[in-house]
Amino acid sequence: MSNDLNDNIYLHALDSANSGIIITDNLLPDNPIIYCNKAFEKITGYSHNEIIGHNCRFLQAQDRMQEEREFIKNAVKNGEQCRVEIRNYRKNGTLFWNELIISPVIKSDGTVTHFIGVQNDITDRKKSENELREEKASVDKKILERTKELQDNEAFLSSIIQTVRESLLVLDADYKVLSANTHFLNSFKVTQEDTVGRILFELGNHQWDIEALKVLLTKILPTNNPVIDFEVEHDFPYIGKKIMLVNAYRIEFEGQYKDRILIAIEDITDKKEIDRRKDDFLSIASHELKTPLTTIKGLVQLLQRMKPENSSEKFTATLDKASVHVDRLNNLISELLDTSKIQSGNIEIHKEPFDIDKALRDTVDSLTVATPEYEIILKSDTNASILGDELQISQVINNLISNAIKYSPDSKKIEVHGNRVGNFVKVSVTDYGMGISAQDQTKIFERFFRARDIQKKFPGMGIGLYICHEIIASHDGTLWVESEIGSGSTFNFTLPIINS
Ligand code: ADP
Repeated sequence: MSNDLNDNIYLHALDSANSGIIITDNLLPDNPIIYCNKAFEKITGYSHNEIIGHNCRFLQAQDRMQEEREFIKNAVKNGEQCRVEIRNYRKNGTLFWNELIISPVIKSDGTVTHFIGVQNDITDRKKSENELREEKASVDKKILERTKELQDNEAFLSSIIQTVRESLLVLDADYKVLSANTHFLNSFKVTQEDTVGRILFELGNHQWDIEALKVLLTKILPTNNPVIDFEVEHDFPYIGKKIMLVNAYRIEFEGQYKDRILIAIEDITDKKEIDRRKDDFLSIASHELKTPLTTIKGLVQLLQRMKPENSSEKFTATLDKASVHVDRLNNLISELLDTSKIQSGNIEIHKEPFDIDKALRDTVDSLTVATPEYEIILKSDTNASILGDELQISQVINNLISNAIKYSPDSKKIEVHGNRVGNFVKVSVTDYGMGISAQDQTKIFERFFRARDIQKKFPGMGIGLYICHEIIASHDGTLWVESEIGSGSTFNFTLPIINS
């Protein structure tokens, strides 16, 4: 094969390559390009004629300040191979990234005669690399911001925890104390070292090592059920006998951790003592009031009986009025006494079977006589017998109907229904009066609660429903209300039947 033919084949091969290939002559001044293949023309947009004879630097156009140029220069100077990624410009001025590998052709005497440059347009790769870099930078920035936000949040939370006037502990899933706030340390007169890192049940003289509390705490994490108002009465080290109210919740912090328990401990010793004194006072005061009142009641009755034949109507009416007011006072004091008895657990229940239909009828009859302007409709033929204290259940019925009357001044219809519901009797008292807001409905069975807007308009002490609730509960029933403001209320209670 002749040399010419060989050359032809090689040139053909070079022209078929995808990479741009040039050859420069190192022995000529300024190292000009003496050969370029087709791919080089395609990549740069210049034609063969515009390329041959030029130094490669024309590809950088005005973008001269690239450090890669130095690498190339040094490689050419030292006759070495080098690989750079350099910004080049096409004939139309557009930028392309060129991956350039230059290799020297060295004669046997060591002279560098030529350089061969192989180029690949890596603009697309560079673009995605850049995008990737930018994305990473933005993710990094976001992570930084988020971390700072979390740190700020944590600092914010911890400052709240430290400032709050309640003792707080944070536990891990094994009940080990992770942190205790200042209020806890001050209240229990302990140090961080006494507390943090130790198991809750081993703190102090094992004051929290209570089986019932343990059972509740073990349910928090798996069920998310908080511990609400668990009372602990104990002789604590350093601070003595105290009553503490424990509340515990599972806490989660923005997906960072979830199996933590926050324990809030409130010292209710003083509050309990005040409540006890208040109850004692109520009980003593109502006892003391009851005695002279019973005497007054007796004396008024005596006067009514001794009333002279020819006494004026005014005299009789005044005496009757006195009797009504004495009865009212007597009822109020009885309610107060009942409350304090319930509070101290001293209420007596005399359970005997009785007929609930009759109890309802008797109470409705007497209230119909007392308030003839109201229409009290009774429907009850349950034929059910209840084992309970008839007097107390009648008191409940009386209270509910009296409330229905009191709180529906503009609507005179009241319905009282008794029905059998399974093994229970369900009694409902419905009025079409002022109704009770949803918010108040949760509170009306508490002691001394009265809806704010009625306080001035209607007399009362806010203990009737409390007593009713306790009486029904002690008869294994439930008392509840359904109501809508402006439309009226229905109070319901259930009692178990004995002859079902
Ligand atoms: P009192 O009637 O002495 O205030 P209760 O314990 O019987 O005390 O009732 C508590 C509160 O519940 C009342 O103050 C009133 O706000 C509300 N309430 C009770 N019954 C009714 C009713 N039938 N309709 C509207 N509100 C009622």
